Amino acid sequence: MDKSPQKTAEKPARGRSLPDVAEMAAAIRKGNRRALARGITHVESSRADDQEFAQKLLAELLPETGNAVRIGLSGAPGVGKSTFTEALGGFLTGEGLKIAVLAVDPSSARTGGSILGDKTRMEELARNPDAFIRPSPSGGTLGGVARRTREAMLLVEAAGFDVVIVETVGVGQSETAVADMVDMFLLLLSPGGGDELQGIKRGIMELADLVVVNKADGDLLPAAKRAAIEYKTALHLMRPKTQHWTPEVQLVSAIENKGLPEVWETVRRYEEVMRETGTLTEMRAAQSRAWMWTELREGLMAHVRTHEGTKKRLASLEGEVARGEVTPTAAARELLALVLKDG
Ligand code: GDP
Repeated sequence: MDKSPQKTAEKPARGRSLPDVAEMAAAIRKGNRRALARGITHVESSRADDQEFAQKLLAELLPETGNAVRIGLSGAPGVGKSTFTEALGGFLTGEGLKIAVLAVDPSSARTGGSILGDKTRMEELARNPDAFIRPSPSGGTLGGVARRTREAMLLVEAAGFDVVIVETVGVGQSETAVADMVDMFLLLLSPGGGDELQGIKRGIMELADLVVVNKADGDLLPAAKRAAIEYKTALHLMRPKTQHWTPEVQLVSAIENKGLPEVWETVRRYEEVMRETGTLTEMRAAQSRAWMWTELREGLMAHVRTHEGTKKRLASLEGEVARGEVTPTAAARELLALVLKDG
């Protein structure tokens, strides 16, 4: 038998061998950036063998995860997310902390990579040895993109990063996905003309644990102060996410490096309260449980769609439901019965 590594019995056609899980895990534990980047590439891949490898890697590293402060950052394009992240990242690395920046942007496949995809953004932070920046995985559903970012987050935690910032654009459903994977959700806003609250969906405000009004500098300072007051009033009218924390509003100037220590102080205070009250543990447990159910739901859906025994019936049932010949409930039950019958 030919034992050459190029032609192993398991993967004759591909001529591609996966690295050793334990070796890669050890390198990630030591904070090796190349290993970390490669590990994330496996997590992001849709190939079955990469996925299997990624799950083994994650299982191996799971005990080392969970030690970072997980921060979500959202805001409409142009509010200054990258400028703010670069400034906050610079401040935190100056404090001796290691910071990772990840992203959730389900539109990146279509737009060719909007957030973090552009190499010119966060130039300084990208060169900083204590920072790690990874653009959004591209392609797939929001659920798929979110899962890959969650798993990338676990890997950066195992690599010893102290703070993980998960960035998303302030449009659509991606904020909820990000809020569901972080400890604290920061909403970045900038002073604009007219009614400040216009254009910000109430649902997104409700997710915020901290509203940061950026561009509080120069001519924009008075408008930023007015906006901060408006946001404070709006937040007071909303039901807080937890009884232990009232969302706050802070002014910063990312460009002038102002207000960043204060933002970090608030994050620390929030984490402390959440930790001491046991809310952080509860919240992360609930997030993990919800994630499992999401995976199960998506796995089942994919199975139903590709299952040989249902494929044909699925195609005709969709038409029958659309024409009003069968109720959606009856159709769903029939498909479920078909899948369960064959396994
Ligand atoms: P993003 O799309 O949310 O990532 O926004 P960017 O970080 O790319 O910033 C959008 C624009 O706002 C750029 O022209 C920045 O120079 C500007 N900007 C960002 N932060 C500040 C700030 O603190 N003050 C002022 N005046 N401009 C800022």
